[in-house]
Amino acid sequence: VEFRTPGALADAERWTAHNYHPLPVVVAEAEGAWVTDVDGRRYLDFLAGYSALNFGHRHPGLIAAAHAQLDRVTLTSRAFVHDQFATFCRGLAELCGKDLVLPMNTGAEAVETAIKVARKWGYRVKGVADERAEIIVAANNFHGRTTTIVSFSTDPEARADFGPYTPGFVVVPYGDLDAVRAAITPNTVAVLMEPIQGEAGVLVPPAGFLAGLRELCDTNNVLMIADEIQSGLGRTGKTFAIEHDGVVPDMYVLGKALGGGIVPVSAVAADQAVLGVLRPGEHGSTFGGNPLACAVGAEVVRLLATGEFQERSARLGARLHAGLEAMIGHGVVAVRGRGLWAGVDIDPALMTGRQACERLAERGVLAKDTHGSTIRLAPPLVVTEEDLDHALAQLAAVLKG
Ligand code: PLP
Repeated sequence: VEFRTPGALADAERWTAHNYHPLPVVVAEAEGAWVTDVDGRRYLDFLAGYSALNFGHRHPGLIAAAHAQLDRVTLTSRAFVHDQFATFCRGLAELCGKDLVLPMNTGAEAVETAIKVARKWGYRVKGVADERAEIIVAANNFHGRTTTIVSFSTDPEARADFGPYTPGFVVVPYGDLDAVRAAITPNTVAVLMEPIQGEAGVLVPPAGFLAGLRELCDTNNVLMIADEIQSGLGRTGKTFAIEHDGVVPDMYVLGKALGGGIVPVSAVAADQAVLGVLRPGEHGSTFGGNPLACAVGAEVVRLLATGEFQERSARLGARLHAGLEAMIGHGVVAVRGRGLWAGVDIDPALMTGRQACERLAERGVLAKDTHGSTIRLAPPLVVTEEDLDHALAQLAAVLKG
């Protein structure tokens, strides 16, 4: 038998920039929580496209919506309106409980949008002096890869050699309310944070932090921006991770699962008093809000409106976390997260996170390491209990060696 994987890996290595270090798996097909590689091996997908595949690979309802739209119209640009646009934007605005939505494509673009909106709101509504706007962000944040966003990254890998950096950002430790309070000045227009820090290792802030942040923002006339690109849309057992703390931000930043794992769709949702500051010509995107994206995005909103996926994530998440907690002291040092989302610190004396993921892949489970000894588990929310237990058993076996 000739295996196709080695050649496909070599070709990818030869013809692309080396800005990723993928696991040696070449995917050819996928359905639900499972993918099949070019040699016919099957894997449980416990990364789910960094939560872009919350509804699983090729969810039938999402695929049907995409197919139907492919046969009608796929692109207009925002120079014209199309018949899927308002449906999607209204549905998403209602899901968020906000007046307005501004659709973009990637997560980074939505974060950039939120930054621009916050700055303009600062100048035109709050009355901050020209060029003085400050945005408070958290250490170990991950908000994307643009030059402005990496300007306030604290990860040397993400930041070094990409300057000169965009000014106007103040970094404070994540979860430290006193530090936020001390960092607020009359020029502060927004606090931008992940309700749970994903890339940092699925870090859940201390109880009361997000509610305290809301209060600080209210008393100081500062916008609270929740980057729910990875944490939102069902991942944690609620529509938004910030709901666990009973908090409503001024702006939601969404992406990943919003495109149903089919197309890149991102968006910012906020009330008229905030998003209403933008006028024609001030911001936009050729592909943002395109018909195909809106048709799929509208179906994503319909799926979330049922509450079914949030419920699954909460119920199966409890099972995932119970299984992982039981491994503490048996190769696992700590477990964090909510719902079907876990950051698992592997005992560094045993192996690195990368090695753990390589061994998991050999056993047919795909996951991704982050920051040395942490691995991230985030299966599609359609994963079954049997599949979940199977993946946990494989992790236990890897840790046993
Ligand atoms: N914000 C958060 C919290 C993320 O996790 C990510 C991606 O991992 C981004 C923003 C950037 O999204 P994109 O890769 O679509 O630009």
